[in-house]
Amino acid sequence: MTGTPATGQELAGRAASPGLAAGPVVVVDRVVAGTRPAGDPDAEAARLSQALETASAQIAGLMETVDAEAAEMLEFQLAMLEDEELTAPAREAIAGGSSADAAVAAALDAAIAEYRASQDEYFRARSADLADIRERLLRALSGEEGAAGSMAGAVLVGTDLTPTRFLETDWSAGGGIVLAEGSPSSHVAMLARARGVPMVTGLGAFDMSGLTEALVDGDSGRVRFNPDEAARRQHNERAEVLAREAEAAKTYLGRPAATACGVSISVMINVAAPEEVDALDPSHCDGIGLMRTEFLFHGPGGLPDEESQYRAYRKVLAWADGRSVTIRTLDAGGDKPVPGLTVEESNPFLGCRGIRLSLRRPDVFRVQLRALARAGCHGNLQVMLPMVSVPGEITEAARLLDDCIAELRAEGREAVRPPLGIMVEVPAVAVTPERFGEAAFFSIGSNDLTQYVLAAGRDSPDVAELGRADDPAVLALVASTLRGGVAARLPVSLCGDAGSDLAVLPKLLACGLRRVSVAPAALARVKAAIAGMRLGDDG
Ligand code: PEP
Ligand code: MG
Repeated sequence: MTGTPATGQELAGRAASPGLAAGPVVVVDRVVAGTRPAGDPDAEAARLSQALETASAQIAGLMETVDAEAAEMLEFQLAMLEDEELTAPAREAIAGGSSADAAVAAALDAAIAEYRASQDEYFRARSADLADIRERLLRALSGEEGAAGSMAGAVLVGTDLTPTRFLETDWSAGGGIVLAEGSPSSHVAMLARARGVPMVTGLGAFDMSGLTEALVDGDSGRVRFNPDEAARRQHNERAEVLAREAEAAKTYLGRPAATACGVSISVMINVAAPEEVDALDPSHCDGIGLMRTEFLFHGPGGLPDEESQYRAYRKVLAWADGRSVTIRTLDAGGDKPVPGLTVEESNPFLGCRGIRLSLRRPDVFRVQLRALARAGCHGNLQVMLPMVSVPGEITEAARLLDDCIAELRAEGREAVRPPLGIMVEVPAVAVTPERFGEAAFFSIGSNDLTQYVLAAGRDSPDVAELGRADDPAVLALVASTLRGGVAARLPVSLCGDAGSDLAVLPKLLACGLRRVSVAPAALARVKAAIAGMRLGDDG
């Protein structure tokens, strides 16, 4: 990889998973096929068979150590490895005199290019799995074992990172991830956030040769390679302060949140994958203010069926043990394409995303509504619609939900009608909340609300400075939504990232916000910060 020289100076990318990391660099770029001359075709064919076996055994072993969702992805890779169609071109090349390494690289490169060029987004997304398989086979052929993950506490640096490489890495001794490409909404970024591995993406092309050490700031998206002593000392001092603060903040976890002037604040958490709750203690929060369901729709098996969704929702409700759980219906589109469902649009953030897409695809939406109505029998469930912009969308979704419930009951199944609320993330709702009184509750999505109010794309680093959630225009809409909630007697919470931002949170509370849902990793520091606030201190 060529591009900007990376040593010494600070490089800026996109923060994808918070926290600080420092460690030796391991470059995880594409494995280059060995240039070993080809041996006898029979011997090369046997090497290929052996590599296929090794790769399958490695994946099967890995499957035993990961959660159900990751295991499903690995199962897909196993199936691909067993697919004759994938390896036939390599076998042909070997018969024609190629080495196994060159044959595998050429066959997989061609398959990856074909998948990437596909019109179908599902196949394009699967090209990452093929890249994963390519790497694994070439490593097996060269006799390498686990590669990158073997160095404890390493910072993995590459163009992009495959999900299995992440899962194979032992993160118990720390470490981080720095990518030239990649995105905070990628599968790997979600895994990194769930495991607390600091990660920066989108640095742009840079020269990865000669990198030995990296300082990673997953909060600001900044990275420094081969730092001098002063930069290293500064980083370590900040890490120590953050570690001390995190330790001190933990004492607030078990207590209900209240400001220094005695105002109670309800603090809930946001989750994506159902497995995320396994490591969390429900008594540390007031429930789940947002469960994003997009993650369930990214499995290799295509769109999830009613049963698998039901199990995922029920698991989270059981964990919450009677606390409120707000599950959002699919918010596909925009920065969250779902292979096989979303369509390509010239301006996806203003296109067919969230509830707009669900209402156009009742076949998919009904499966989710049925699963939710069934899961609702097992806990304190609320259902939330994303990207609502006109009241008719609530009416139509409510009609479909009622219809699904009637259908379930006619089938002799248990179902309940959960309260149906909405995200307030389109300015039209925040400006005239009184028109949306059919909703059971409002939850402010500050991420989208900010980008739509300021016309500053949330995924565009060039306008990141404009898209501030504490811009007076955004705060005015937060206040307007809160007034609308009071007038209609509807609870109002906020589940966008602004709630986890300690510079913005006091301003939100000053607007009258009393319910907030934050990233699990931010729970302790948010509760600690609230305990130090006096309402009116909006600093
Ligand atoms: C938001 O827009 O603030 C929000 C919580 O939804 P998402 O980030 O999933 O779009
Ligand atoms: Mg949103």
